[in-house]
Amino acid sequence: MAEYKRPKTKAEFDKNFKQKKPLMNDTEAFYEASRCLFCYDAPCIQACPTSIDIPLFIKQIHTDNITGASKTIFDSNWLGNACGVVCPTGVLCEGACVYNHQDVPPIQIGRLQNYATNKTIDADKTIFKVGESNGKKIAIIGAGPAGLACACEARTLGYEVDIYEAKEKPSGLTVYGIAPYKITNEEVLKEVDYLQNQLGFNIKYNNAINSKKELSTLENNYDAIFLGVGLGATRHLGLDGEDKQGVIGAVEFIEELRMKHHEVKVPAKVVVIGGGNTAMDAASEAARMGARKTVLAYRNSKDKMGAYGFEYDLAISAGVDSLFNVTPLAITGNGKVEGVKFAKTEVIDGKLQTNMNNTFIVRCDMVIKATGQAKQGYFYDMIDGLDIDNKTRIKINEEFQTSNPKYFAGGDAINGGAEVVNAAYDGKMAAQGIHNWLNKK
Ligand SMILES: Cc1cc2nc3c(=O)[nH]c(=O)nc-3n(C[C@H](O)[C@H](O)[C@H](O)COP(=O)(O)OP(=O)(O)OC[C@H]3O[C@@H](n4cnc5c(N)ncnc54)[C@H](O)[C@@H]3O)c2cc1C
Ligand code: SF4
Repeated sequence: MAEYKRPKTKAEFDKNFKQKKPLMNDTEAFYEASRCLFCYDAPCIQACPTSIDIPLFIKQIHTDNITGASKTIFDSNWLGNACGVVCPTGVLCEGACVYNHQDVPPIQIGRLQNYATNKTIDADKTIFKVGESNGKKIAIIGAGPAGLACACEARTLGYEVDIYEAKEKPSGLTVYGIAPYKITNEEVLKEVDYLQNQLGFNIKYNNAINSKKELSTLENNYDAIFLGVGLGATRHLGLDGEDKQGVIGAVEFIEELRMKHHEVKVPAKVVVIGGGNTAMDAASEAARMGARKTVLAYRNSKDKMGAYGFEYDLAISAGVDSLFNVTPLAITGNGKVEGVKFAKTEVIDGKLQTNMNNTFIVRCDMVIKATGQAKQGYFYDMIDGLDIDNKTRIKINEEFQTSNPKYFAGGDAINGGAEVVNAAYDGKMAAQGIHNWLNKK
C-alpha cells in the first residue's frame, strides 16, 4: 500500500499523481495494435457510447497511418484524446474486448486511442474541415465536453458558434474535476486548442449566463441555443456543524487541487463521505496530497457503493481506509472541524435504518462531502417552457431538442451525471439535431 509524502513542488506533485495510463511509445503501440484480432462484429465498438470504429483505428496505427487513426477517432468523438485516458475503458470498450473470454488481457484500446490522437495533436496536423457558412448562428452555454463537442460538430455543418463559459478555462469537469492521475491540465487544454484552432469556434470566458435578460439576448441573436451546463456545486447535507471550517464539497476540493496542485494543503486526517466515483477520487487525492489518514465513510455496504470496483481499489491502494454502514450525524469541533459523529446503519425489513444506540466519533481535521452535485434547477426555471423531470434533468427528444424548441441540451444536464464520453456524444448529436430542425424550418 502506497504512502505519500505531502508534495511541496510541482515535481513531487507529479510523482504522487503519476499518470495511470501513461503515453505509449511507438514500439508499445505497434505491439499492442498487432494483438488486435480485428473482429468482424467488434463488441468493443458496440460498447463505446460514441461507436468509434476501434478495429479500424487500431489497424491504422498498426500500418503507421497515425493521422488516419486520429481521423477515425475524432470523426466519432470530438474529445477522442481525453477519452482515451479518462474513459472507464474497463467497463466500456476494453471490458467488451473478446480477449476477456480467454485468460488474456484485453487490448489497451484507450491508451492506443490516446497514442494516436496525442501524436496528431503534437504534430498539429490539419484533419478537420469547417463547413461552408450557412449564415446561421448557434449559442452554446457551457464549454464542458458537451458544449465543445456541439461547437465542433456545428462548425463542420457551417454554423457560427459562440460558447458562453462561466469559468476561465474550457473543458468543464475534464479540467476542473477529473483526477490529476488520469489527465493533466496541459493535456486537456492542448486538445481544446487543437480543435479550436482548426474549427474556429469562439469561447467567451468568465461569461456566465445567469439572468432571463441574458437568455433573451441570446434568443434574439442566435438561431438555436445548446445547454451544456452540467451540474452545480456539491449538495448541502443539512448536518449539524456543516458550516465549520474544514468542511468542503468534493467537487470544490478537486477543483482547487486541479488549479493549484502542490500549493493546496491537506491536513493530517481526512474523512470523505460518500460511495460514488467522486468519493473514491477525492479520497485517493487527499491521500496523495499527504494526508496521514484518509477514511472513506459510506452509509451502506460495500457492494451497494455506486463507485466502480477499480476506482475503489485505486483509493485503497493509495492508502485510504473505509468504513461501511455508517451515516454522519454531525460535524464536531469548535469553529474548526475536529471530527464526524457517525451512527451505524443496518438493513431491517429491506430498509436501511440508523441505529442511534450505536454512535461514535471519527477524529479528523477535514471533511470532504462527496454526496452528489446539485442540479441547475434555478437556471432552468428562467427558460420559458423548459420541461425537466423529477430528478431535475432537462427533458429532450431523440434529436436532443428540449420542450422549448429553440433550446437543445446534452451531457450531465440531461443524464444527471455520467462520463465525458456521454457528454461528447450528446453534444455532437445535438448539433445534428439543431441542423435538422433549422433545415426543416
Ligand atoms: C470529481 C469528478 C470526477 C470525474 N471523473 C471522471 C472520469 O474519470 N472519467 C469520465 O469520463 N468522467 C468523469 N467525470 C464525469 C465527467 O466529468 C462529466 O460527465 C462531464 O464533464 C460532463 O460534461 P458536461 O459538458 O455535461 O458538463 P461539465 O463538464 O460540468 O461542463 C459544464 C460547463 O458549463 C459551464 N456552465 C455552467 N453553468 C453555466 C452558465 N450559466 N453560464 C455559462 N457557463 C456555465 C461550467 O462552468 C462548465 O464549464 C467526473 C466527474 C466528477 C464530478
Ligand atoms: S474486441 Fe478486442 S480484439 Fe476484437 S476488434 Fe475489438 S479490440 Fe480488437
